[in-house]
Amino acid sequence: MNAGQPGVERLVRYRFRGQTGRARLHEDGVLEPLDGPPVRRLDEVELLPPSEPSKIVGVGLNYHAHAREMGKAVPEEPLLFLKPSTAVIASGQPIVRPAGFERVDYEGELALVFSRRARHISEAEAFSVVAGYCCCNDVTVRDLQQRDGQYTRAKGFDTFAPLGPWLVSGLNPDVLRITTRVDGTVRQQGAVADMIFPLPRLIATVTRVMTMLPGDVLTTGTPPGVGQAQVGSVIEVEIDGLGVLRNPVVAEQR
Ligand code: MG
Repeated sequence: MNAGQPGVERLVRYRFRGQTGRARLHEDGVLEPLDGPPVRRLDEVELLPPSEPSKIVGVGLNYHAHAREMGKAVPEEPLLFLKPSTAVIASGQPIVRPAGFERVDYEGELALVFSRRARHISEAEAFSVVAGYCCCNDVTVRDLQQRDGQYTRAKGFDTFAPLGPWLVSGLNPDVLRITTRVDGTVRQQGAVADMIFPLPRLIATVTRVMTMLPGDVLTTGTPPGVGQAQVGSVIEVEIDGLGVLRNPVVAEQR
């Protein structure tokens, strides 16, 4: 387990008996509450998203092999888009598949959370504004993305930004591998080292444009293998040392 590595810390946001708190997660599922209700074990609590961002900035087409599978040219600079904060859900909560669309896809991604207000951050100082990392599923209605020519509707539905299961700091992101499973079958595998634009470039690019606030999220693009999030399936995004983000897919009730 990664928590045994020196300097690596896992921070859980949770709800227990109606109250919210934050705790360090130790080996074997042991929690050490920092604030909020006293709990001892991870399996006693309901997970909350590891951050409450004011915004989520996404990056499109940041892996060569994914750009190829989408039939798109590789961008010359990072391609940024926004997902609303209202799309965030925790590990364990359901992704609601909206009715009436052909193709709703999972996209397993590495996300980073900002530790402080960040504007005009150079590549050299980029990691000084990172609080930690977690898994993200950048859920997307592919037919709306094609039809609209931009991403607001396609990526903006409620529940389309699963984040978690917790926030991990103190590890080297460059060696991490991303795996996405659907009902236990591996569908995506990628390495952070294969990103077209690495993390410092992404942080410099986004903070050249807008102020990132503490807790804001940057999700860094998906490796190849995207596919349908069908009702009844369970989608898992796992990244080395970051844990497993697990969300069932349910039908929209209207
Ligand atoms: Mg994506």
